[in-house]
Amino acid sequence: RPVTIFVVVIGVIALVALVTVAVVQNKPLTQKYKYGIVLDAGSSHTALYIYKWPAEKDNNTGRVTQANETCKVKGPGISSYASNPQGAGESLRACMLEAKKFIPASRQEETPLYLGATAGMRLLNMENASASDSVFKAVEEALDSYTFSYRGARLLTGLEEGAFGWVTVNYLDGRLTQGQKTIGALDLGGASTQISFVSPNFDGSESPNNLMMFRLYGNDYNLYSHSFLCYGKDQALRQTLAHQTQSGQSIVNDPCFHSKYSKVWEYSNLYDTPCVADRKPDNSPTNFTLNGSGNFQQCQQLIKSIFNFTQCKYSRCSFNGVFQPELQGSFGAFSAYYYVLDFLNLADTSRVSLEKAKDKLKEYCATPWPELQKQHPKTKEKYLSEYCFSGTYILTLLTEGYNFTADTYKEITVIGKMQGSDAGWTLGYMLNLTNMIPAEAPDRPPIAYP
Ligand code: AMP
Repeated sequence: RPVTIFVVVIGVIALVALVTVAVVQNKPLTQKYKYGIVLDAGSSHTALYIYKWPAEKDNNTGRVTQANETCKVKGPGISSYASNPQGAGESLRACMLEAKKFIPASRQEETPLYLGATAGMRLLNMENASASDSVFKAVEEALDSYTFSYRGARLLTGLEEGAFGWVTVNYLDGRLTQGQKTIGALDLGGASTQISFVSPNFDGSESPNNLMMFRLYGNDYNLYSHSFLCYGKDQALRQTLAHQTQSGQSIVNDPCFHSKYSKVWEYSNLYDTPCVADRKPDNSPTNFTLNGSGNFQQCQQLIKSIFNFTQCKYSRCSFNGVFQPELQGSFGAFSAYYYVLDFLNLADTSRVSLEKAKDKLKEYCATPWPELQKQHPKTKEKYLSEYCFSGTYILTLLTEGYNFTADTYKEITVIGKMQGSDAGWTLGYMLNLTNMIPAEAPDRPPIAYP
């Protein structure tokens, strides 16, 4: 009897100890995961994504998912640290420490860590290459100091940014394994915007710079992709402001902002980007005052003026002389498309037709600023003041720029998260660099997404 009691007590103590160790180390008892980290260094901010997948199944589709709520780096994007490169590296610290807490210590050394920079750094690189080199150097030193397997910080080309966004949405939608029809990808950032899709007759012969070829799970894809630098929503706004200040005005009545809204802009600040720098008027005053007039139609006219439709040396173009094959199939629209259309309640394109979206936006833009502030006391003032512009820009870019019609507009799904993962280039980028999407189909049928 005493022996049995002794054995039971020892057993219970051992079990409690085991569970405690597991809980303290934050390790699940059964499933083992591997992890990967990608930092998206965008023009307006940097975000850290952690991905995870079952440790023994690197190669199956639909297996890699986002593991954390995105960690948003405090402060501006790394391109804003041109005069203080060290600051760019330091700004990443809080999110990196969060990643260290999240990923089990035993997995950290094997966890790949990447940083990809996009259009904000492309612009800084054009403006001041040595400053962008210094920012990259500072960021590299900072990232290399953590226990993760650091695999480099680099500037993505526009083609890569668009193409990896396309890989992400099609991977998350489970469309790549069986060679199903893919969906196109529409991405809108602060400094650039991307459109990527497979079009039946596009083989790249007309415009090789827009071709990205993939062989994924035994299927070949000729992907069309283009990134328009200076057509992200922040730089597009600057282009419209430049258009309105060509004679060095001190007052601008801007239809893309609400009536009774007013903001003072410094000329030197507005023109401090390669997107408009060469158009800075001579002899302008120090400032101009922007007064909103809240008119959707006039705003749309103004936005049209930043697109050039006159020259096209190809069989067809979107705008600015850029080749674009015929639009094909469904599209997923994410990042700022989502932030803006979701806020404006225009994200459900199956219910809100293009015509309805225009009507709603017309009414929204006509709402006076004080009324809007009362309706949305918690929304960041900068975002709130710009939704009329951004919404109008999105509809204009889609219809006038990319040639979406009332019919094809319905084929656009506005995506926040897919299967719990954010849509964007980061996941596709990591899958590609870690060879997690095989070129040939695996022997065993892949495990379907639950
Ligand atoms: P990037 O930093 O290049 O990825 O650009 C993201 C864009 O989305 C920038 O123009 C941001 O200002 C904008 N943005 C981010 N969050 C929101 C939001 N909640 N509402 C409106 N715009 C947003």
